[in-house]
Amino acid sequence: MALKKIGLIGGMSFEGSAAYYRKINEAVNRALGDLNSAEILLDSVNFQDIVAMQKSGRWNDAGERLAKAARNLKAGGADCVMVCAVTMHLVAEDVAQATDLPFIHIVDEMAKRLRAAGRSKPLLIATRYTMENGFYPARMKPHGIEVTVPDAEGRTQIHNIIFDELSLGKVLDSSRDVLVTLIEKAKAQGADSVIFGCTEICMILETDKLPLLGFDSTAVHAEAAVEFALGNSDSHAGANIPSKQDK
Ligand code: GLU
Repeated sequence: MALKKIGLIGGMSFEGSAAYYRKINEAVNRALGDLNSAEILLDSVNFQDIVAMQKSGRWNDAGERLAKAARNLKAGGADCVMVCAVTMHLVAEDVAQATDLPFIHIVDEMAKRLRAAGRSKPLLIATRYTMENGFYPARMKPHGIEVTVPDAEGRTQIHNIIFDELSLGKVLDSSRDVLVTLIEKAKAQGADSVIFGCTEICMILETDKLPLLGFDSTAVHAEAAVEFALGNSDSHAGANIPSKQDK
């Protein structure tokens, strides 16, 4: 079967990108059976360089780096572009505008999934950049979804779990307990769901074993890619990218 080629910008972290690779291929194989697997082109960046840009607020440099990766994907024959990290959707505009390929936006796909499940008050657990920047709740709001985040101490705990543990392949029970406690607290405050708003959270939490129903960015984004590859989706032609002033 002629599948469209999925273009991935990965490496942020490589653990998260490995999860994408597996989930995309599993979904294609579920859909088509036999030995079918996905057609994928991956441009994987050095995360150390990206983290340095994040820490020093050099988002324009990061946008240029990922725009270059998008152009590489186009030159290599990809049919769409995806960024395999939620945080780096801070520069989604740069990436989407770098080529004329459809850009599959991770927040839009999550919004569709939450709406379909009738959830409108999710807790967002993610990197500090994603939880504190404002781009994520701003993009959810037009869908009638009000995103909440943990308090400052909780945000620091999650950020450190992502960068000091999960991105290095470390999955600790003590950190899982920290995350579950934050989710319990959010439930008591009225949250109706929890967004795994970072592509490594799926390494430590399972969506259906939590005090609130979980929505995994990696799975949702991967499944959107597969719908595109199978030709089941026509909704990625012109992504509506927010203005840079939100950064
Ligand atoms: N993969 C993570 C995310 O989805 C964190 C890595 C990064 O900061 O880019 O946000």
